[in-house]
Amino acid sequence: MPELGPSPLMAGDPQLSVAEARAAIAAALKPIAGIETVTLADALGRVLAADLASPIDVPAHDNSAMDGYAFDGAVLDSASAAEFSVIGTVFAGQPFKGAVGAGECLRIMTGAVMPLGLDTVVPQELCQAGAGRVRIEAGVISRGENRRRRGEDLAVGRAALRGGRVLRPADLGLIASLGIASVSVKRRLRVALFSTGDELRSPGEPLDPGCIYDSNRHSLTGTLQRLGVQIIDLGLVRDDPAALQATLEAAVAQADVVLTSGGVSVGEADHTRALLAGMGEVAFWKVAMRPGRPFAFGPLHATLNGEQRSSWLFALPGNPVAALVTFYAFAREALLQLAGAHPEPLPVLQARCESAIRKRPGRTEFQRGIVSQAPGGSWQVRISGAQGAGILRSMSEANALVVLGHDQGSVAAGEPVDVWLFDGLA
Ligand code: AMP
Ligand code: MG
Repeated sequence: MPELGPSPLMAGDPQLSVAEARAAIAAALKPIAGIETVTLADALGRVLAADLASPIDVPAHDNSAMDGYAFDGAVLDSASAAEFSVIGTVFAGQPFKGAVGAGECLRIMTGAVMPLGLDTVVPQELCQAGAGRVRIEAGVISRGENRRRRGEDLAVGRAALRGGRVLRPADLGLIASLGIASVSVKRRLRVALFSTGDELRSPGEPLDPGCIYDSNRHSLTGTLQRLGVQIIDLGLVRDDPAALQATLEAAVAQADVVLTSGGVSVGEADHTRALLAGMGEVAFWKVAMRPGRPFAFGPLHATLNGEQRSSWLFALPGNPVAALVTFYAFAREALLQLAGAHPEPLPVLQARCESAIRKRPGRTEFQRGIVSQAPGGSWQVRISGAQGAGILRSMSEANALVVLGHDQGSVAAGEPVDVWLFDGLA
């Protein structure tokens, strides 16, 4: 069981490690059920709804893997050369109809169907050809080489792709190679997004005294776009309980997930907490991490036209770096899971840290880093600029997050550290 936090304001809130918080979120969520059919042109990044079995053998027939000469390999003998007369040419898509006799071969192109009775292809660069004849020296090739077998990529009935797969370019090609033009995918996850704070203004508006521009909605929109979810942008909401409640209700009415930033820090938590307590079972978590606290998660309910609807709230901290780090740490895989995907964990790379980092055990720390290749080819990482939770420039300059684990202490210069590459964060 999680221990209780020491702060009076947070009394009763669970104190969790990052790993415990991630596990608790994963255990709470169930994938959405809806599915729809899309053509391959619209399938990139979508979540395959069910296993996709191959309706055909791939390839559909034995064929040549090379440009060369096809012959019956039974005559091959390791001690002596073989010679054939060339009686024709067989092209891809135009199967050879005639018969090939003893001592005969066919010129054959890559992908052409293997003619009846022939099982071996000698690549043109491994034989001597001229005047209608081909000679293959002893030991150059063995029987059956350079022939792709029917069904060797995929036998009929075998699962070509598993349900839950987030479709990538090669998958689209694979599905097309099966002759399938459209696929059943999960409907898009609907995510309502808004920022909270009286001080926030939208880019393009004049900046009133004491105000700042809302950056979180834009960086979070980017992360959501990369995940391929449907975004419902509910804009900016003032620190006013009535406005917040109305926006939360509108969000729950439309979305599977409500993603907010700001308004859950210690100074602001009380009114948010009171409001959320009346709308669902949201927990304010004290996660042992930096940056990132505070963070709230749980189900919200609202009634729309007499029908009760529920959504999952992910309330991220307002500091721009903390908002992104908590998104990557807690929301990214959770949204994939809700979308029906089998999320692959973020790719972790080990890189040599160029400088020492002070760190105390007992919390996970995320630092912005610039990963590059050292002259010998190994990976190294340099911490980028000032690391304050509000300093977005260091995040923008970085290409990775350095993840210093819960139990880890200070890092000496030259020691390896774990990094999450941003470009793996799709
Ligand atoms: P909060 O979590 O609401 O207490 O906000 C913490 C800090 O992050 C404050 O300095 C806020 O002004 C700032 N902040 C909150 N929301 C945003 C936002 N959407 N864009 C930029 N900064 C924000
Ligand atoms: Mg605020």
